[in-house]
Amino acid sequence: MRTVALETAPDAPQAWRSVMTDITERKYAENELQKLNEHLAATLHALPDLAFETDLNGVIYDYHASRPELLYLPPQQFIGKKLDDLLPSSAVQSIRSALKEASEKSVSFGETYSLPIQNKTAWFELSIAVVGDIKSSDKRFIVLARNITDRKKIEEDLTLSNNALQTHILAIEQLHDQLREQAIRDPLTGLFNRRYLQETLDIEVSRAQRSNSPIGFIIIDLDYFKQVNDSYGHKAGDLVLQKLGGLILRNLRMGDVSCRYGGEEFTIMMPGATLNITVNRAEHLLRQINKMDIEYHGATIKITASMGVAVFPDHDTGSEDVLICADRALYRAKSLGRNQVVVYQNNNYLIKNPLTIEKHKK
Ligand code: GH3
Ligand code: MG
Ligand code: MG
Repeated sequence: MRTVALETAPDAPQAWRSVMTDITERKYAENELQKLNEHLAATLHALPDLAFETDLNGVIYDYHASRPELLYLPPQQFIGKKLDDLLPSSAVQSIRSALKEASEKSVSFGETYSLPIQNKTAWFELSIAVVGDIKSSDKRFIVLARNITDRKKIEEDLTLSNNALQTHILAIEQLHDQLREQAIRDPLTGLFNRRYLQETLDIEVSRAQRSNSPIGFIIIDLDYFKQVNDSYGHKAGDLVLQKLGGLILRNLRMGDVSCRYGGEEFTIMMPGATLNITVNRAEHLLRQINKMDIEYHGATIKITASMGVAVFPDHDTGSEDVLICADRALYRAKSLGRNQVVVYQNNNYLIKNPLTIEKHKK
């Protein structure tokens, strides 16, 4: 419904009538404008954001906040000035980059910047829209800056606790690895322990079955080791075990598993090794052990060892049994006088004494 400002008399002259119609139109437009302004004011008032109007040069034309505590500076200190004169350069940079985006796309959302307010850092998130024609060279922008400090704080706290959690998880994983290492290693020699051999044996045997490849086993037992302890003391005995462990480790190939099987007994598992390769390795070790001089408090300790060799699948079908075969061969080596390699063969024994062979060669 139009509100007519002045009633025109039906017999009024034409000139009067047109003046009166002009006033009516203007009055109507003014009313509409006022309504729009009221809407805009109410909208701005309802916004939790700080709002300002600026141009591409950062000159501020208007500045408003529904909650006065949101105001970074009072409007009289802001309006008519340039962003560069009022805000830290990092904040100005962020606002300018958002203005640039808005000037290309007509809107920009999500850019953030921080301001030092009362010895604290406040964070703002920007929403920007171009006023009027986007192509205009002196276009203006409405900038809404929402205070997101609380959200930022929660995010930062979350990141901190997340990092702390990650550090915790890493420490637990390291501890877990450490415990695992402790659980599978013999602390004196650094070799794997019997438990680890048992763990890996079944896996290696199934792998060997699948790939139709052999696994060589050597069991080594020091000869008369008790006498070393008795003659030089337990610490000397420990040193001998460490030296033998080191010698075994130096003679391993990739994939071989060596372990301290019992007190002075060691086992080497050699996936992929044929009987020939396994016997050669055992003979080589025997020679090395015979050459070894272990110095202990001015004394030189000499040791020998007996070895039993068996190969999967040649010597048995089950994973345990191949070790039993190697153990039987070892027992045989002991009974035959020690310091030698004996190979288990179909319930028979093949005596391999490299030292004797070498003597014959001479
Ligand atoms: P054989 O030639 O028949 O194998 O005789 P041996 O003396 O080597 O074997 P025996 O089984 O009679 O003795 C093994 C010795 O190994 C007894 C034990 O005190 C010693 N021993 C076992 N574990 C350790 C250890 O960790 N350190 C030391 N120093 N000695 C150990
Ligand atoms: Mg022994
Ligand atoms: Mg023994």
